[in-house]
Amino acid sequence: MESLDELFQKAGELHGSTCPGVILGVQMALLGCHLIDLDEPKRSENRKKLLVLVETDRCATDGIQSVTGCSVGKRTLKVVDYGILAAAFYNLETNKAVRISVSTDARTRAEKLYNHITDRYQAYIQAYKNLPREEIFNAEEVTVDLSSFELPGPPPPRFICDVCGEEIVEGREIKQNGKIACRRCANLPLYYKPVKYLTVS
Ligand SMILES: [Zn+2]
Ligand SMILES: [Zn+2]
Repeated sequence: MESLDELFQKAGELHGSTCPGVILGVQMALLGCHLIDLDEPKRSENRKKLLVLVETDRCATDGIQSVTGCSVGKRTLKVVDYGILAAAFYNLETNKAVRISVSTDARTRAEKLYNHITDRYQAYIQAYKNLPREEIFNAEEVTVDLSSFELPGPPPPRFICDVCGEEIVEGREIKQNGKIACRRCANLPLYYKPVKYLTVS
């Protein structure tokens, strides 16, 4: 494993800048991985053992990705956007899972101990780099309820929507009146509203 400074630097590069959130993400990932006995998450023998579920889509997520090597595309990083600076680290081999959240007084503790740094932003960065992890985070053991469709693994079988013909990954298809439909054709809520088709050139 790289040194802590190297980890902070790499996370800052991935994120585009070093901010308090990305530092928290690095520290959170180190603590979470340690508590589920995966201190070296990027070692090849550990790569398929770790699943991370983050409860925010903000800065800390990049810190966690950088330390763990988990990513959305590998299906080893899930964003469950509850809008909370917390994440669960799940050892798929042992089923052990811990949820790490930021303790309610982490911010005031950081402000108090690092008030000699006038730039508040820098004060938080220094605080989160240096404070002992037990002073910043809460950790709890949890069980994680994941259907097999959510787990990393080989590409699943696909279905064809009987209405529009688009391919749907197994587990996401909607069965209606003996037919298979995608979300859109099943008239379920979508994140977008169709406007018009464009000519692709
Ligand atoms: Zn940031
Ligand atoms: Zn469809």
